[in-house]
Amino acid sequence: MTALREGGCSCGAVRYRLTAEPLFVHCCHCTNCQRQTGSAFVINLLIETDHVELLGAVPVPVDVPRDDGSPQTIWRCPECQVGVYSRYGHDGARFVRAGTLDDASWVVPDVHIYTRSKVPWVAIPEDQPAFEVFYDPKTQWPPETMARWRALSASA
Ligand SMILES: [Zn+2]
Ligand SMILES: [Zn+2]
Repeated sequence: MTALREGGCSCGAVRYRLTAEPLFVHCCHCTNCQRQTGSAFVINLLIETDHVELLGAVPVPVDVPRDDGSPQTIWRCPECQVGVYSRYGHDGARFVRAGTLDDASWVVPDVHIYTRSKVPWVAIPEDQPAFEVFYDPKTQWPPETMARWRALSASA
């Protein structure tokens, strides 16, 4: 399982290991994520910053403008510039880009968000919750995730 939680950038300078299961997995169909990835959506693993262990080069934070003006920082490899994770607001948590895992085949979205801008040819499986914009974590997060988030908020 450990090997499945390792990943990195394209050149191999940045390597990371997730030392816990993700808190929650977002599949985001918003226009910001579409622009940043050049694709139809991004898959983000929400996890405590403390559970992202860096094994190689230290990624460089880059502030990226978003349509609604709220801040987002993407950490990129200093060499090949691939973005490996980002932050929205809370510094205690990171959104790890699932596509940078060595093997992301185990990653399944817990929720689809911003489906208002989903491309029409992407079909969301019936058993995966989907929301036009964002969602209410209180109704979607399992108790373990809620408890870990509370611990995080308490320490921040
Ligand atoms: Zn790199
Ligand atoms: Zn998004």
